[in-house]
Amino acid sequence: MATLTENQQVLKGGAFIIQRSLAEDTYTPSDITEEQAMFRESCREFVDKRVLPQVDAIDNKGYAIVVGLLEEAGELGLLGATLPEAYGGMGVSINTETMLSEEIGKSYSFGVAVAAHTGIGTLPVLYFGTEAQKAKYLPGMASGKLKASYCLTEPGSGSDALAAKTRADLNAEGTHYLLNGQKMWITNSGFADLFIVFAKIDGDKFTGFIVDGGTPGITLGAEEDKMGIKGSSTRQVFFENAAVPVENVLGEIGQGHKIAFNVLNIGRYKLCAMVTGGSKAACTAAVRYANERYQFGVPIASFGAIRHKMAEMACRIYAAESATYRTSGLIHQMITALEETGKPRYLAKLEAAEEYSIECAMLKVFGSEVLDYVVDEAVQIYGGMGFSEESPVARAYRDARINRIFEGTNEINRLLSVGMLLKKAMKGQLNLLGAATAVQQELMGMPDMSSPEGVLGLEKRTVEHAKKAVLMVAGAAAQTFMAKLEKEQEIMMNLADMLMEVFVCESTVLRTEKLIQAKGEAACSDQIDMTRVYLEEASYRIHQAGKSAICGFAEGDMLRMMLLGLKRYTKTEPYNTIAARRRIADRLTEANQYCY
Ligand SMILES: Cc1cc2nc3c(=O)[nH]c(=O)nc-3n(C[C@H](O)[C@H](O)[C@H](O)COP(=O)(O)OP(=O)(O)OC[C@H]3O[C@@H](n4cnc5c(N)ncnc54)[C@H](O)[C@@H]3O)c2cc1C
Repeated sequence: MATLTENQQVLKGGAFIIQRSLAEDTYTPSDITEEQAMFRESCREFVDKRVLPQVDAIDNKGYAIVVGLLEEAGELGLLGATLPEAYGGMGVSINTETMLSEEIGKSYSFGVAVAAHTGIGTLPVLYFGTEAQKAKYLPGMASGKLKASYCLTEPGSGSDALAAKTRADLNAEGTHYLLNGQKMWITNSGFADLFIVFAKIDGDKFTGFIVDGGTPGITLGAEEDKMGIKGSSTRQVFFENAAVPVENVLGEIGQGHKIAFNVLNIGRYKLCAMVTGGSKAACTAAVRYANERYQFGVPIASFGAIRHKMAEMACRIYAAESATYRTSGLIHQMITALEETGKPRYLAKLEAAEEYSIECAMLKVFGSEVLDYVVDEAVQIYGGMGFSEESPVARAYRDARINRIFEGTNEINRLLSVGMLLKKAMKGQLNLLGAATAVQQELMGMPDMSSPEGVLGLEKRTVEHAKKAVLMVAGAAAQTFMAKLEKEQEIMMNLADMLMEVFVCESTVLRTEKLIQAKGEAACSDQIDMTRVYLEEASYRIHQAGKSAICGFAEGDMLRMMLLGLKRYTKTEPYNTIAARRRIADRLTEANQYCY
């Protein structure tokens, strides 16, 4: 892990939009140590040898296989990797967790079972449980003996989770809460030994509970007939006077929202790591097929149309991975800083993940949409075979879709990312107003005509300019709508897209710059190509989103001035993306896989 350069503070959540970052402070996949790589190898071997040969059987209602594999994963330390050693875990860092998540992300439905168990199932106990609760449950969760699920969603409350109707009432003896209600879409519910349940005490105090699976009064609906992740158990869970001991209340009464929402931050960033792994696997399958499949006497990998698709997949995956590892590194730095003040790691992690909740929300959206792009184009490269269940990409295509829906839909996460940024500004934690005003003043002056220096000089300027575009549009939108901006959802969506692209672009440039510093420019030509192609396309998208937003609220002189400003801040120098994509595609086809 790179240490911070002198006098550099850990970049705060959301601060990337007003501050510069240094490549040497940025965590990237090249920083993975030998020891971490060995752990990754054992995880990869488990996925390749134990899980992937069974995917058909798993998807054919093979929930029992999932249960067995979860226990095997537990024995290998994969379920308790991040849990403290005192509870049977391995206490690995969040950066190791990122790397492992990428590997597990290649395992289709099984990956969903692992994520639900280790994330939303286990973390509420780790973060909010009492010592007694942790001692009782965490060792079993680490070993896989106890399999967990998380019951928040109800038929009437999905995105609006706090509108849940499930209630909890204390019995006359004061020993148990009686749970009554219905939960829906509960992952791992068919075999869970433990349910983390959210219910309202007396109908109004939203509270978390740890509920043993065998509690009388709990019944399950049938397995849902889903579009994808068919081997992931998903059922409704019904509670009818299910008696839960008072000592199983999780956290404080009435504070369940803190549990429900905080564990989602980690879940969202981890989802991005997982879908990046899934994207790499789908890209590899597509490249191999393109090399093997001949039409018109040549491999389809030689056609420009197909080369474009393969290269574009690689660029987007590279970008998603750069943003994921950068965020992982930021969270890690903050955890370390908080641990130095005496905070136990689990609390430090909770606080750090909350600090970077904007980045986590953006990653969730970005990663899941990259995966959807990749699997869609993978199916296209397979042609008719892509539409056959015999091809690996058909499953990947169906399984990918859920990622835009759970862990907060992408609409909700887009709203959250911008909403949280604006809140930080209003609380005085981020000087967005000052930065936006400086941009407005700059727009009155002459543009800087100098040519930036260095290999990625132009790209760094593109990122700086893109940040100014976001500040200009967000600042004007905030001035126009004031507190009502959050109700202007179309504009919020545009701002979210701009913000996310800027974060991803900067992360990509920082990663490549760091690689150049370590290996020299000549050794990084592909990465430079991928960075340039990504930035070129992202600049169009930022421009498009910005224009849509501006036209939604500005008129007359203001409209004209802002459109000119947007053009100035999203302009890129002419660049031959066709030639660059050809070079990237050449490398992919030579390697016969995703190779970055
Ligand atoms: C396979 C699967 C597994 C799941 N696993 C779990 C689990 O283990 N535990 C659990 O608790 N839940 C789980 N869920 C539930 C999941 O988290 C919800 O489906 C999700 O949060 C969306 O809620 P909803 O389905 O009720 O959709 P809705 O909230 O009804 O949303 C429908 C549409 O409206 C949009 N929308 C809603 N509100 C707004 C708004 N304010 N502004 C703009 N657009 C809005 C949404 O983005 C979406 O496009 C799972 C779901 C599935 C399908």
